[in-house]
Amino acid sequence: MNSLNVLILEDNPFQLMALHQMLNANQVFNVLAADGVAAAQQSLANRGSVDIAICDLQMDGPDGLEMIRYLAETRQARAVIILSSTDTSVRDGAAYLARQQGLWVLGSLPKPASATALCKLLEVYSEGIEHDTAPLPLLQVSESLSLEALYPIAPGQHIGDTRVSEQWIAHYQPKVSLEGKLLGVEALVRWQHPQYGLLVPGQFMAALEHAGLIAPLTWRMLELALKLSSEVLQARGEALPVAVNIAPVMLEHVDFAQEILALLARFGLPPEVLTLEVVESSVLNTPSWQLESLMRLRLQGCKLSIDDFGTGASNIERLLQLPFSELKIPSEFVRGMAEDARKSAVVAGALTMARQMAMNVVVEGVETADDYRALQALGKPAVQGYFIARPMSEAALLSWMAERTGPTSGQPMLLQINE
Ligand code: C2E
Ligand code: MG
Ligand code: MG
Repeated sequence: MNSLNVLILEDNPFQLMALHQMLNANQVFNVLAADGVAAAQQSLANRGSVDIAICDLQMDGPDGLEMIRYLAETRQARAVIILSSTDTSVRDGAAYLARQQGLWVLGSLPKPASATALCKLLEVYSEGIEHDTAPLPLLQVSESLSLEALYPIAPGQHIGDTRVSEQWIAHYQPKVSLEGKLLGVEALVRWQHPQYGLLVPGQFMAALEHAGLIAPLTWRMLELALKLSSEVLQARGEALPVAVNIAPVMLEHVDFAQEILALLARFGLPPEVLTLEVVESSVLNTPSWQLESLMRLRLQGCKLSIDDFGTGASNIERLLQLPFSELKIPSEFVRGMAEDARKSAVVAGALTMARQMAMNVVVEGVETADDYRALQALGKPAVQGYFIARPMSEAALLSWMAERTGPTSGQPMLLQINE
C-alpha cells in the first residue's frame, strides 16, 4: 500500500492530523493534506492526481460536495472516501451523488474516523485494483467513444437491443423566467453505462449517429419526457412543459409529425406541452419538404425552438420564414456577458428581433449572478443554466420542484432565485 497517493480534505486540524497518522500507520506516506476545497484543488494542481481522496462533507465556504463534483469533472482522484459527522443517510446520499457522477466510492466513514474502518476501505481499493474489479478509470468529458467501446456486444445481443437502450436516460434542466416562474424543462440524454458510468452526449452521440441509432434514441427521449409531463399533470393538475432535441435526420421520416401526435395522445397531453428544439444550422441545411413535419406539428400546437441561435452561418431571412416560437441563445454569448459589451449587444439584438417576431427567447448557460443580473437589464428573457440548476435526474427534478414550489397541486411553480 506504500505507493498510494492520498488527499485528505478536512477542516478540523485535529481530525486532519489523526487521519494523516492513520494513513502513515498503514504505510501510506504520500499524503496531501488540505483544510479547504481551494487548498485541495491547489494541491492537486501542483502535485497531480491522487489514488484516493478522503472528503469531509461539512466545511465553511465551498463544501465536500463541491469537491466531489470537482473530482468528477477533473478526474483527479481514482476513488473517494466520504467522511462526515452527519447521520448515515446523509453520508449515503453523498455517496450516491458521487457514484451518479461516475466516481468510485470506497465507502463512507462517520467522524471521528476509526483506524480499523479506514484500513478496511484502503483494502477495498487495493483489492479492486489487484483483481481488476475496480471501475474503469474515468473518461475525460471531451473524449468521444467508439461504437465498439460503447457496445461490447454479447452473444445473442444486437445493436438497438432494449436492454441497451434502457441505459439511455433523460436528465432534465429547468427553463425559468427572470421572475422565477418555471416555464418547463429540457430533456438531455445521458448514457448510464455499466462500465464507464454516466456519459454525456459529447461522449457517445457521434458513435450513435454513425450507427444510425439517433431515431431510437430520440423516440426514447420523447417517451421519457412526455411520461414525466403526464405524471406531473396527474400530481399537480398542470402538465410540465418539456423540450426535446431533434436531430435533422428525424425530419426525413414522413410520419414524424403523426407519430409525435400519436405519442402525445397516448400520454393524454395537449401538443402545447411539447417543444421541439432544432439546431439553427440544421434548419438552414434541411430541404424544405423535410420542414413540412415541423410546420404540421406547429399547426397542431407544438412549439418549435431554434437551438444554438447565432452559431450557424445564418440566413436569418429563411430562418424567420419558418414558424418558430422560441430562440435559444447559446452559452458562448452569455458567459462573461456582464464584462463584455459586445456579447451583451448580441444578446440585446437577438432579444429585440425576437420581440418583433413574437418569439420567446431562452438564454442558455447562465452560470453566474452577474450574468443573471445583466440579463434583467436587457429585457428579461427566460434563462437556463447552472446558476438556476444543472441538468438532473427525474427524481432530483421532482424534489427540486417540490422544494421550490410546494408539493400540492394548483400552486404556481414560482421559484426563489438566490442571488
Ligand atoms: P443543447 O441542446 O444546446 O443543450 C444545452 C447544453 O448546455 C447541455 O449540454 C447542458 O448540460 C449544457 N448547459 C446547461 N447549462 C449550462 C451552464 O450554465 N454552463 C455550461 N457550461 N453548460 C451548460 P449536454 O447535456 O452535454 O448536451 C449537449 C448537446 O447534445 C445538446 O446541446 C444537444 O445539442 C445534444 N443533445 C442532448 N440531448 C440530446 C437528445 O436527446 N437528442 C439529440 N438529438 N441531441 C441531444
Ligand atoms: Mg437543446
Ligand atoms: Mg443549445
